[in-house]
Amino acid sequence: MFDKVLVANRGEIALRIVRACRELGVASVAVYSDADTGAPHTRAADEAVNIGAAPSAESYLVGERIIAAALRTGARAIHPGYGFLAEREWFARAVLEAGLVFIGPPPDAIAAMGSKTAARALAIQSSVPVVPGTASALATADAARKAADEIGYPVLLKAAAGGGGKGMRVVRASGEIEAAFGAAAREARAAFGDDAVYLEKYISQPRHVEIQVLADSHGTVLSLGERECSLQRRHQKMLEEAPSVAVSPELRRAMGETAVRVARAAGYVNAGTCEFLLDAGGKFYFLEMNTRLQVEHPVTELVTDIDIVQWQIRIAAGEKLPFAQSEIEPRGWAIECRITSEDPANGFLPSTGVVQYLGVPSGPGVRWDGGIEAGSEVGLHYDPMLAKLIVWGENRAQAVARMHRALLELTIDGVETSRDFHLRLMEDAEFRAGEFDIQWLERRLDSLIAVSPPPEGVRAAALAAAFLAEEDRLGRMPAMLPVASGDQWKRAARLDALRE
Ligand code: ADP
Repeated sequence: MFDKVLVANRGEIALRIVRACRELGVASVAVYSDADTGAPHTRAADEAVNIGAAPSAESYLVGERIIAAALRTGARAIHPGYGFLAEREWFARAVLEAGLVFIGPPPDAIAAMGSKTAARALAIQSSVPVVPGTASALATADAARKAADEIGYPVLLKAAAGGGGKGMRVVRASGEIEAAFGAAAREARAAFGDDAVYLEKYISQPRHVEIQVLADSHGTVLSLGERECSLQRRHQKMLEEAPSVAVSPELRRAMGETAVRVARAAGYVNAGTCEFLLDAGGKFYFLEMNTRLQVEHPVTELVTDIDIVQWQIRIAAGEKLPFAQSEIEPRGWAIECRITSEDPANGFLPSTGVVQYLGVPSGPGVRWDGGIEAGSEVGLHYDPMLAKLIVWGENRAQAVARMHRALLELTIDGVETSRDFHLRLMEDAEFRAGEFDIQWLERRLDSLIAVSPPPEGVRAAALAAAFLAEEDRLGRMPAMLPVASGDQWKRAARLDALRE
């Protein structure tokens, strides 16, 4: 096992990796930008190294500085987390060339899956079903129109280098192709430095179901089962669960075997995820493979009892996976809500500010993977995800009830968050029934975004009294009461909601 690992990330995922290191008895080195001086992940690690200015292009994306920090501190391996450098083939290569271990797949596997068109080609070669579409990138809008006319509308234009839902455009009729092609290519160039765009049939109302794969360097490749990730806004996941209501044990086996086949074809080692679209008839199509740890890995950890991050490190150190596929069965139900600094009542605009108060949920079956604390400044330099709230229950109904309870216990003052949106989601009858697909959330958005009416008159006085009583109970009664700020009104309203 390594003596020391450098964690090339920030926020909740850096903390998650530091925790795994500590449990394995491995020392950890954090890196941080000027904006993250003193941030929780830097204090959690055994050492911390400044790697530059706030913009990620000047810090978290500068591979040479990260490698230099690892060499200087005597770290033997680098864990990239997700985002930033996690799926950059050149970085994985540079880490190896520096004589260090990359805690992730071999660079060739990253390359094989790095382009969606290359990944599709590999899947087709391995007899894995893919969404009907073009085999390679399209040179012109005209070529796109011809292909779309053949496949049939609606179609989806996708950036070959895509990720995070960027560079995608749904096209419903031939007349829209020209503009959509230009827009997708421009967006792809801006986001990925590569304007290659291809085209797929747009599958109507499927689910997004993905399979977690774990592969060691001794030839064992295992499926850890599925995650249901259909609840998306603008192709961005907002909530994930494991297992999926739409997946039977037979389908789980079939999808798992398919994912393992893809991983083997790519020469995959370490943790990876195969994403699929699952249609209403139970047919599934391979979308892509993410060659890194996923944001939503905790739901799989909770239902399989396998610590994916620890296994990433152990696999990188050469250990053998000790499980058999037949031993891996999901137990109970896990749900994750992504708590972001986005304001649902305001079109999910990013919200900035200083976290004034943080009340973290706890109790049975609750896990908080967070990267913030009271005093944290939430700016615009990095991803708006502040934390993940994850729960486990014996079954889906218990997990939903538990998530609802945990969300009620969560207070983040000082910055707007997605918390209330998730609360409403837990109360939604269709969500509770498990009746949704990847377009459901967008269709339902209006009813899930509440604009809380400002308290007035008598109600305001009652709320204020409740708020002060609660502050008193918590022993935080200020000596002199300032005029209640917007945040305090909001807390009062929440306390009120708690009582109802
Ligand atoms: P990214 O890498 O940008 O996340 P994906 O290929 O994973 O792109 O697609 C992101 C999301 O877009 C999927 O989860 C799904 O919701 C939707 N999507 C992708 N391909 C299709 C398709 N052919 N038909 C319908 N929806 C799709």
